[in-house]
Amino acid sequence: MRTKVAIIGAGPAGLLLGQLLHIYGIDNVILERHTGEYVLGRIRAGLLEEGTVKLLDEVGAGSRAYAEGLVHNGIELAFGGSRHRIDMKGATNKTVMIYGQTEVTLDLMNARKEAGLASIYEAADVQPHDFDTDRPRLTYVKDGTTHEISCDFIAGCDGFHGVSRASVKPEAMETFERVYPFGWLGILSETPPVSPELIYSNHARGFALCTMRSTHRSRYYVQCPLDDRVEDWSDDRFWDELKRRLDKKAADSLVTGPSIEKSIAPLRSFVAEPMRFGRMFLAGDAAHIVPPTGAKGLNLAASDAHYLATAFREYYDEKSSAGIDSYSTTALKRVWKAVRFSWWMTSMLHRFPDDGTFGARIQLAELNYVVHSRAAMTSLAENYVGLPF
Ligand SMILES: Cc1cc2nc3c(=O)[nH]c(=O)nc-3n(C[C@H](O)[C@H](O)[C@H](O)COP(=O)(O)OP(=O)(O)OC[C@H]3O[C@@H](n4cnc5c(N)ncnc54)[C@H](O)[C@@H]3O)c2cc1C
Repeated sequence: MRTKVAIIGAGPAGLLLGQLLHIYGIDNVILERHTGEYVLGRIRAGLLEEGTVKLLDEVGAGSRAYAEGLVHNGIELAFGGSRHRIDMKGATNKTVMIYGQTEVTLDLMNARKEAGLASIYEAADVQPHDFDTDRPRLTYVKDGTTHEISCDFIAGCDGFHGVSRASVKPEAMETFERVYPFGWLGILSETPPVSPELIYSNHARGFALCTMRSTHRSRYYVQCPLDDRVEDWSDDRFWDELKRRLDKKAADSLVTGPSIEKSIAPLRSFVAEPMRFGRMFLAGDAAHIVPPTGAKGLNLAASDAHYLATAFREYYDEKSSAGIDSYSTTALKRVWKAVRFSWWMTSMLHRFPDDGTFGARIQLAELNYVVHSRAAMTSLAENYVGLPF
């Protein structure tokens, strides 16, 4: 098989890139190691920047998000027993949208199916080859047979544990990492959200976040030790702990119910540089990870896909390599700003085991500054709604 761009991974980065390339008239094939159902079953991100929604719309996959997504104009920061609203719309004239990653993925998969584009699910042992030459290729195994795809370019959109970054010689790449000394225990429940906007809570017992997927489905998180196991957390224990970390009004009005998903995710910041290796390009979690506190992971996957698709369009339409040559630098500038913001939100809101009472007072001073200074509030809002791309 031959194609122009062979994409590894059918997560948000790969699916969006594939759709953008299709709109630009560039052939592409997606190889995914799992089934479509498995990919759709992963409960992950749920907050979209306006730029991400516009990209979905551009590729014909935005109508359900516009119809069903919940537009949010602000968030609340809770500390010292009360809540303080950050008016994002007032500060930036922009909003964010609650619309689950599972829905984004479904809409992109459906758009791909409607366009009749090639996606190979359950592709085992995908391997990129010769990406440092002009003739890169991919091999994979499907139903026991080895297949080969020759292409002009490989797009590694295969997430943090994918094969693309792992295929690069270590000396060709520099990595930057911070592992946080706690995780997030998350629960999904078929209950109405405790509040119409997200609540980020800094509490002596640890961070908590109240978010949602719809008006009847809630997503809640509490900071937990890294060695905690999901089995240790009954639903009752989770709800009890969450209530303790919220202000009285929120705790009193919280509607609880059985969890339909419960998991613990470690928190990490990670960036691999560069994001281009010859004719192979990394996009999304394959190149970088952020802690979810800033809600940036999925949105960075979208901006990378945009930069990369634009670069390929320039290459094919204008016979110019300028876009592919600058892809890594351009994408990394935005990535590092989101990495900084996600680290900053994480640092301000969580209990760090080694920071003691001094650290807690500094956080309180910072939170008080953010909610009482127009400049600081605007800075938070501008980053939260997403920097332009
Ligand atoms: C548990 C969890 C919770 C999260 N929660 C949030 C959140 O609340 N908010 C937020 O903003 N972000 C969150 N994120 C981050 C967000 O989900 C990711 O940033 C986003 O999924 C990135 O999209 P992607 O397409 O780059 O990678 P992925 O979604 O990881 O997609 C990569 C795809 O590549 C496939 N693949 C991997 N290896 C191979 C291979 N060798 N061959 C073929 N295919 C392969 C995978 O199966 C997968 O389908 C969360 C992530 C995780 C893991």
